[in-house]
Amino acid sequence: MPAPSEQYVLALDQGTTSARAILFDRQGSIQGVAQQEITQHYPQPGWVEHDADEIWQAQLAVARAVLRDNGVSAAQIVAAGITNQRETTVLWDRSTGEPLHRAIVWQDRRTAGICDEITAAGHAELFHERTGLVVDAYFSGTKLKWLLDHIPGARARAERGELAFGTIDSWLAWKLSGGQAHVTDSSNASRTLLFDIHRCCWDEELLALLDIPAALLPRIVDSSGEIATIAAEWLGAEIPLSGMAGDQQAATFGQACLEHGMAKNTYGTGCFLLMNTGRAPMVSSHRLLTTVGWQRQGHTTYLLEGSVFMGGATVQWLRDGLGLISSADQIEALAASVPDNGGVYLVPAHTGLGAPYWDPFARGALFGLTRGTTRAHIARAALEAIAFQSAEVLQAMENDAGQRLSELRVDGGAAKNDLLMQFQADLLGVPVVRPKITETTALGAAYLAGLAVGFWRDEAELTALWQAEHRFEPAMAEGRRTELFADWHRAVERSLHWAKAE
Ligand code: ADP
Repeated sequence: MPAPSEQYVLALDQGTTSARAILFDRQGSIQGVAQQEITQHYPQPGWVEHDADEIWQAQLAVARAVLRDNGVSAAQIVAAGITNQRETTVLWDRSTGEPLHRAIVWQDRRTAGICDEITAAGHAELFHERTGLVVDAYFSGTKLKWLLDHIPGARARAERGELAFGTIDSWLAWKLSGGQAHVTDSSNASRTLLFDIHRCCWDEELLALLDIPAALLPRIVDSSGEIATIAAEWLGAEIPLSGMAGDQQAATFGQACLEHGMAKNTYGTGCFLLMNTGRAPMVSSHRLLTTVGWQRQGHTTYLLEGSVFMGGATVQWLRDGLGLISSADQIEALAASVPDNGGVYLVPAHTGLGAPYWDPFARGALFGLTRGTTRAHIARAALEAIAFQSAEVLQAMENDAGQRLSELRVDGGAAKNDLLMQFQADLLGVPVVRPKITETTALGAAYLAGLAVGFWRDEAELTALWQAEHRFEPAMAEGRRTELFADWHRAVERSLHWAKAE
């Protein structure tokens, strides 16, 4: 048996644009990474598909590559964990292991009409109560219904138990186990619209409403526990698969937001904010989502989730739409070249506004322009807008959870922007903390897997491993913060209902 210092956990991170495999050591440090892009298919406007076989092949290739490139053997891997793009839906044949159709990706809007029908029939509230979600094409249930409705003979075959449904976690576990395990964890199941988050089981009534045969469904397993065994043929020896969680939940775990009230924000293209609400699913009055974080040792941890549509995408728009900068990195120096926003506010409602406004007809707008306004003020307003939007989602969460935030942990591409992080801390009035390891999604999957096999002892050990790289302390006077929010709100008000008024 290899010495503990030569043992690793393998995280398989299957994202929307790439498959990655990352090796973590006992300190939670990265020992190797391999990555491969996956093809995006856009068969019609609003449709997005992935080839499930390509996903599997890419994931296997990167797992093999990370071992080979780092001179690590399968015997040194104590456990593996999967984290995945959520909601993406695969339907396959149990006997051949072949998908019946390309996977329908979370971004795909083809089932918006089905969602409208469910809402018109008065079922939205039932779905909300049971699943913690809003009825939206984003989630898997209506995607699965679409597949069953459109593939000839699929529903009858499903009823006979010949087919299997799964999100990407299930699909990979099935393949890795050589078809032995048809499983999913509650964090992924809680994104299907088919799962009762209170009882933590599939819901017969919701399945009936969507005409989905129960025989299709994977068995629910803990996010950290005995999930399956990776067959020896893939990596050279059997490896326990003992961690599984959707990407945002895994990132929350990887940020060690393990206590009630702890929260993280990922500043990517959009921003994904999640707050740990402990053992209780909190129902949101702001249309935030209630979701399972992870399940471990028989206990379920719940999260509130909210997102900002235009996060880092605001910076991309300044680069590609306005040509104000030539790379995202340049925005910080440009914004820092002026002492403040000069009264300029950018509302990045380019695709409407989400929580807490929920106005699809809002449109982007710039306010407060004067003869003194320069591109630097606009750059600053763009960064501030990312922080204002995130702060408003967090305030909604605090209200829903009845819990004040103590600090915000951050990751994602735009979290490396110090000016943005400092402004975020100023607006929230709590510290914003950026960790040393920002690969939080993969780290979360590794932690879940390693905990299950005793590589890490308990959550307290993970809490101790988490290390801050930079802590941004709030430095703004309360009065100034109030003024800024008041102006931001005036700007948002003026951007609402714009497209409708045309
Ligand atoms: P995703 O996973 O959504 O592709 P990433 O976490 O890779 O996103 O982050 C990319 C986003 O971060 C882009 O939208 C980009 O505009 C933004 N970004 C990258 N660097 C910076 C920076 N220095 N300042 C602000 N935003 C940045």
